[in-house]
Parts: sequence; structure tokens; C-alpha cells
Amino acid sequence: MVKNPGREPTAQEIAETAESMKVAHKFGPSYHRNKTELHTTPACKSKQCKDCSDISCPNFSSHQECPPKCRRGCKNQLSRTKPELVPFFIADTGDRGKGLFAKTDIPADTRILYYSGEIISQRASKIRWNKYDDKEREQSYYFAAGDFICDPRNHGNAGQYANNSCQPNMVAVQCKIHGKAENYRGIFFDAYRDIEKGEELTIKYDFDYDSSVVRECKCGELNCTKSLNMLPPQPKKRSSKSRSGASEKKKSKKS
Ligand SMILES: [Zn+2]
Ligand SMILES: [Zn+2]
Ligand SMILES: [Zn+2]
Repeated sequence: MVKNPGREPTAQEIAETAESMKVAHKFGPSYHRNKTELHTTPACKSKQCKDCSDISCPNFSSHQECPPKCRRGCKNQLSRTKPELVPFFIADTGDRGKGLFAKTDIPADTRILYYSGEIISQRASKIRWNKYDDKEREQSYYFAAGDFICDPRNHGNAGQYANNSCQPNMVAVQCKIHGKAENYRGIFFDAYRDIEKGEELTIKYDFDYDSSVVRECKCGELNCTKSLNMLPPQPKKRSSKSRSGASEKKKSKKS
């Protein structure tokens, strides 16, 4: 993890970050063919809840994004939040391509970003995968999104620049999104602990193990496994095509 205490983003980094956060999901034909009924989140009426941004909110704590018309000041609306309000910026890490860095101090459990991509069915993702050559597989970063797969390849926002770490400071949370299918989940990256301004924001991707695809981790933490893949399965389990569930995806390389 890179630490740049107090580091302020340049105007160019701010602009690039805001631009990348304008990228919206693309819900492809296979999403529409496989979606179940649409999810409705009730507006929050809890007396304990202040702004729907922590577990005192029944919607937040049950992993549902609030509807557009929730209580005044509702902050559980990240998939609809203005791109320029994000608490991070994209910058060069030096040895690992681009990365994300905290623009301010970020308290634990803060919802940091909505991970964007093309939402496709698992079947469509397998067909796509089978057509890729080794290089394309190496650069392909699927992320499970409920019954679907989020493929950031052509529709990814800044989330795709979050680097892998074996000691990450963010965690991926899957949430139901008001107005989207019940069997779809939006992927949010939340702060796993208090994060200081200038720290690099990292996540643990844990791809399903696939020995044919090399994804090296260069996080530099003491416990680094040197790989973005999960540990190999026990001998004999699991067929050679692997990677089917695509539990999580990715990391950089798009510098
Ligand atoms: Zn609430
Ligand atoms: Zn709310
Ligand atoms: Zn590592």
C-alpha cells in the first residue's frame, strides 16, 4: 500500500476521477432476459437513523440502497451520487499502474464507491470468457453481482483502478438496488477501517483459482500471497475450466 500523508490531488487527477465516475452501468440483453421482478426499498422511517449512512439505518444495515425519495439528507444513494463528490482520486502508484487514493480522512464503514461495469448473465460471461485468449483473460476482471456478473472491461468506472492488497482497507459489499432486479446486487466498496488522507485504497479480489491465468499481487504487505487468485483447490476437485463462479474480479493494468 502506498502512503502519501496529506497528499492533495492535482487538478488533472480530480478531473480524471470525476470523468471516470460518470461511467454508468450497462445492463445488457442477458440481464434483461434473466432478471426477476424489480426490487423496491421502502423509504427509511426509523427514528434512530440520522442520514442512512450507517447500521442505525434499517436499509443500510440490511444491504439495500434507499429509494431516491427517502428522508431528507439520506446518504444511502451512492449509485445516484454526483461523481465529483467521491472521497478519492485516481493517481499513479509507481509500480502497479494507477490506483485510488483517499482525498480526505475516511472513517470506517463509509461507503466509498459504486463499482461499475456491464451487467451480464453468468452464462454470457462464460461464453465471453471462452472466446478470450490468454492475454484477454489476464486483463479480464469479472466481479459477482448477485446472480449476474459485472464486467468492467468497457463500462468500468474508477473502481477498476482499486489495487489488490493482502491487507486491504476496503471491503466489497453487495446490495440490493431500488428499481433493479431482485436477483441483481450492486457492488460497493466500503472502508474496512479508518483510512487516512493520502492512503491508497485497496481491496482483496480473490479470483477463483485458475492456474492458467497469472495475476500477480505486488501489495508489499508482510502476509502477501503474491497472487490475486485464491489458493488452489484440493487435488481432484473442480474441473479444469475453473473460474466459473467469478467470486470477485480484478485489478488494474490499465495504465
Ligand atoms: Zn435510514
Ligand atoms: Zn435513506
Ligand atoms: Zn499481496
